[in-house]
Amino acid sequence: MPGAIDAALETLKRYWGYETFRPGQDRMVQAILSGRDALGVMPTGAGKSICYQVPALALPGLTLVISPLVSLMGDQVRALKAAGARPSYLNSSLTPAQQNTVLKRASEGWYQIMYVAPERLEDPRFLAFAQATAAPGGLGIPLIAVDEAHCVSQWGQDFRPSYLQISQFIDALPTRPVLAAFTATATERVRADIVAMLGLRDPETTITGFDRANLYFGVEEMGEKAKVRWILDYVREHAEESGIIYCATRKAVDQLSQELSFELMPQGISVGRYHAGMGDADRRESQEAFIDDRVPIMVATNAFGMGIDKPNVRYVIHNNVPESIEAYYQEAGRAGRDGDPASCILLWNGSDFRLRCYFIDRDPEEGVFDSEQRDASRQNRYRLLAQMEGYCQTTGCLREYILRYFGETEPRRGGADSAGERPHGCGNCSNCLTDFEVEDVTAEALAVLRFVRAVRGRFGKAALAEALHGANNERVRQYRLDQLEGYGALKDVPTGKIRDVIDQLVGSGYLEQAQGKFATIGFGPRMREAMDQAAAARCDAVAAGAGDSSSAENAPRIPFTFAIKKRAAKSAAGRTRRVAKAVDLLREEAVAAGTGPGAGVSHEDDAELYDRLRALRTRIASERQWAPYMVLPDKTLRAFCRLRPRDRESLLAVPGIGEKKADDFGDLFLQEIADFEARGAGQ
Ligand code: ADP
Ligand code: ZN
Repeated sequence: MPGAIDAALETLKRYWGYETFRPGQDRMVQAILSGRDALGVMPTGAGKSICYQVPALALPGLTLVISPLVSLMGDQVRALKAAGARPSYLNSSLTPAQQNTVLKRASEGWYQIMYVAPERLEDPRFLAFAQATAAPGGLGIPLIAVDEAHCVSQWGQDFRPSYLQISQFIDALPTRPVLAAFTATATERVRADIVAMLGLRDPETTITGFDRANLYFGVEEMGEKAKVRWILDYVREHAEESGIIYCATRKAVDQLSQELSFELMPQGISVGRYHAGMGDADRRESQEAFIDDRVPIMVATNAFGMGIDKPNVRYVIHNNVPESIEAYYQEAGRAGRDGDPASCILLWNGSDFRLRCYFIDRDPEEGVFDSEQRDASRQNRYRLLAQMEGYCQTTGCLREYILRYFGETEPRRGGADSAGERPHGCGNCSNCLTDFEVEDVTAEALAVLRFVRAVRGRFGKAALAEALHGANNERVRQYRLDQLEGYGALKDVPTGKIRDVIDQLVGSGYLEQAQGKFATIGFGPRMREAMDQAAAARCDAVAAGAGDSSSAENAPRIPFTFAIKKRAAKSAAGRTRRVAKAVDLLREEAVAAGTGPGAGVSHEDDAELYDRLRALRTRIASERQWAPYMVLPDKTLRAFCRLRPRDRESLLAVPGIGEKKADDFGDLFLQEIADFEARGAGQ
């Protein structure tokens, strides 16, 4: 359908000022426009909303968008209005009178798109409205888009019973609209649930993968005091950028935000805070200040962020360890939705894990009633936490670790895949950017593995290390470790190093550390592999020596090897890649554009102009009560600096500014640019 995609591109250009769809978007849009159901599994920031907003604006009638994030609807509607569309929302934040008005206007065909919460579908009045609209001769409902579609699955984390009503609602309509579902996280099982529970019919499916290439991942181990200094240092250096700092508890939020304020206030940098213990009004004010760029830094618990669409969050720092990789990726993923470089850094130390264990042991786990279920749930939470610990400990690529968690890359098998030799790296995480010294510790590793097998996983790391080293202390005597075979097997190796070997064996899956009060070390999923290979290697050696050909014919011939990595560079700060600042991006983009035909050039004063354009954007935003990002994205302001448009035509050629915005305030930007250039020329 070439005609349909042309119309879609025209819509994209007119309202958003973008020339092309991103990967995956085109397929989704094309399917929907040709009347086919669609399922999009795309990470945050991939641009899911465009997939249904473009068809909504291109098709006649009213598109319904079902979303659980009531707090986001207002922002989405404001952003669409700013782009020149006719959007609306219907939710409990409106008074009954306002709701009446919205429904009345909708019946009159005022709107192209309407956001509703799933609970709304159960309201008989709303059903009657939808039935009338979808009836032959009515305005028509061409499309129903379901956002956060994983909420329909009981296997997912955010199950919403009201999502189960969606398919009934659709069945009750006189004509069936196209149905499109979107989510950022979906395992195989959740994906199947989405199709079945929503009743998607042979949907065109796009799965773009979880990787977010523009995000830098970093992990730093440090004490509590050092964390504060590190954050202060980081924030000072990025005073112009927006960032979120997550803490594990409300108390930690209050404390850290106070400490940061004390240091940063005198420099004119304000610090916000957000947690569930604050009143509604305070929380709303805090959130708005952050979205409107009045407060650049937000210190918050995980209560913050669900309803936030702010695209230009440049960094997310975790001051404490989150409960799982999934939670971490969701929170960290709030950085860099606009696709510009952004950083996600996790600061941690042992007390973070002790705190998490305390939470798990203490939590009565609402909704999980009998003690067996509670136990299973606790076990599961410990397992998730252990994976988080693996993330902190690993010396391999952090991005790979996360993607493997989501089942995206097969962990490579075979003896060569020891911690020391992973040839692939993303080049954009703290481990890939660190020089490690590699040391072969195969013999030590085998001694550890054999000892763990001999003691059948009954001891923790410290006891194992001491016993292997042949220590003679209280603990060794108490547990009679000295009676065991393997006691003192590594008497020439310092206990600290044995502990390192154990850590890295855990990190690469040969061993597993139980979480909780007794952090015993047991077999990991790959234990067998190591032992088989070790055995085969020994058989090979025997066979070679004795000329015996009967053994190990079919055993793998890759000998088990294991190496540990030591950070070569001492300075932790040195290896954390800092967020690229606007000035750096201005330069980089000019260089990149400089290679193309008709490209812009880098101006000496780009950064100065950028600041002025940002200030203008803030003025326009506050006059209209929009967030600055709704006026124009950062990227567009940077392109203004590079391309210096002089008239409406060259203004519209800049990506990210559509016709409505050009009409509304294009002149103000043109004027600002002209004034700035004239001033430069006069000097
Ligand atoms: P998601 O819902 O998947 O998290 P969004 O729909 O919020 O992502 O889009 C993320 C950002 O990417 C937004 O700032 C949006 O304007 C931008 N974007 C989306 N599609 C395009 C495109 N085709 N070209 C340029 N920018 C885009
Ligand atoms: Zn990496």
